[in-house]
Amino acid sequence: MRGMIERAKQILAEVFGFESFRPPQDAVVETLLNGQDALVIMPTGGGKSLCYQLPSLAREGTGVVISPLIALMQDQVSALSQLGIRAGCLNSSLPLEQLQATEAQLVNGELDMIYIAPERLLQPRSLALFQRAKLALFAIDEAHCVSQWGHDFRPEYMQLNRLRGLFPGVPRIALTATADARTRQEIIERLELTDARIFIQGFDRPNIRYRIGQKDRAREQLLRFIKEEHAQDVGIVYCLSRKRVEDTAAWLSERGFNALPYHAGLSPELRQHHLHRFLTEEPIIMVATIAFGMGIDKPNVRFVAHLDLPKSVEAYYQETGRAGRDGQPADAWMVYGLQDVIFLRQMLEGSQADEIHKQVERQKLEAMLGLCEITNCRRQALLAYFGEPDHPPCGNCDTCLEPVPVWDGTEAARKALSAVYRGGQIYGVNYIIDILLGESSDKSRQRGHEQLTTWGIGKELDRNQWRSVFRQLVARGYLTVEPCHGALQLAERCRALLRGEESLELRRDLRSKAASSKVASG
Ligand code: ADP
Ligand code: ZN
Repeated sequence: MRGMIERAKQILAEVFGFESFRPPQDAVVETLLNGQDALVIMPTGGGKSLCYQLPSLAREGTGVVISPLIALMQDQVSALSQLGIRAGCLNSSLPLEQLQATEAQLVNGELDMIYIAPERLLQPRSLALFQRAKLALFAIDEAHCVSQWGHDFRPEYMQLNRLRGLFPGVPRIALTATADARTRQEIIERLELTDARIFIQGFDRPNIRYRIGQKDRAREQLLRFIKEEHAQDVGIVYCLSRKRVEDTAAWLSERGFNALPYHAGLSPELRQHHLHRFLTEEPIIMVATIAFGMGIDKPNVRFVAHLDLPKSVEAYYQETGRAGRDGQPADAWMVYGLQDVIFLRQMLEGSQADEIHKQVERQKLEAMLGLCEITNCRRQALLAYFGEPDHPPCGNCDTCLEPVPVWDGTEAARKALSAVYRGGQIYGVNYIIDILLGESSDKSRQRGHEQLTTWGIGKELDRNQWRSVFRQLVARGYLTVEPCHGALQLAERCRALLRGEESLELRRDLRSKAASSKVASG
């Protein structure tokens, strides 16, 4: 084993030109060299590829990379070829001759790595072919695509569990940047990774500066931001609709910027062309919907701007994570308005998803809003959301750099938390607010809630203000939301607050009037 690790270090230096592993790359590599399975959760830009590229070289046989990103395969193969790695790819966009040549190379043991889309690998013909080849490992990239709860769900990923039985002895490594525990559990179950070692790398991206502001003629705000801070840089601007993408790209072009649109409504050729230009030109600005993103590896993206609110904290983190992959300072800049929230809610309600999924989506949107409304460090909130509650304020986000107007929400928070507690932690936010406001209904009478000590104790705030309080409590990890029914539940964190050992400042809700008596400027 020692010899193998030494050999891995040598490959790291000689082939990839890196001095050292980034944690947990070394441990992941070791796991695979031992023939064990691994699940790797690492933020975008963390260095996931090396976790399977290096073992593919160090182990005998070909490393098989399963990826949904057909558009990027050729780029990945070219990048590897430049390092002297023998790589090929198999997908439906390639000419027959090239496919046949690559297949022959695979069977003859002439490839270090091969990239393939899951649906292709799962065809009986391909499986037979791969069984004739000597394989080093299977890497299942973007493994969260197996999750039915996520927005990247791909049904064909569900069948990848078959690899375990079909290729015994070939270690499997699944990789994703999606952090939440539910997705992790789904990956383990669906891909039958029960014996896998799990590696979770911290989610902090210290070089990214987070800023979230209120919309006020958003385009002008964007223009000012780019002109003043990133006039000669590479950046991405995210918008919610295709039309807004087109309009914004044209508008920036008219003002002399090298800006291109990217969305799913463009022809595949044009998308490919714009992607290629984005990867090769500088300065350049890609104005895009979320269709642009997964797997984009351009290290020197200096800013990611959101002209509209993303629909979840996960999406916000993934999208902003495309900035500053080279570790140099980068900006995550966003403006949002009430209109965005309305638009997203309408999209959500109008979607085909069933009620349970919709409930999950609603809660995710609430958490995103909570992040916008937060008064303390955004990074802290972001990391707490991803299960890292112990970070100090970062000093590199808007709320750290320019304190926001706040009010003392300690009393309101205590009332909110006790209403959740007395209600048995089984109700969603709307009903809990009914209790706080003392709004009588058949439900509240039948359930006997009108006798609770918390009944009607929150009349000093209106419904919107309470919603804002709850959003902020969720965003800061005092309350969690049970994903199936949206029931609010107390988190460990709220103890100190309930015991009176901690106070809480909340961002002043701009729409609020009734709370103005309580408002203090901070
Ligand atoms: P991910 O797939 O996790 O988003 P990548 O694998 O694309 O991230 O790696 C992100 C960047 O980090 C790439 O530019 C890569 O070359 C670089 N990188 C990865 N591992 C190392 C390392 N051990 N030392 C230095 N740079 C590294
Ligand atoms: Zn901060």
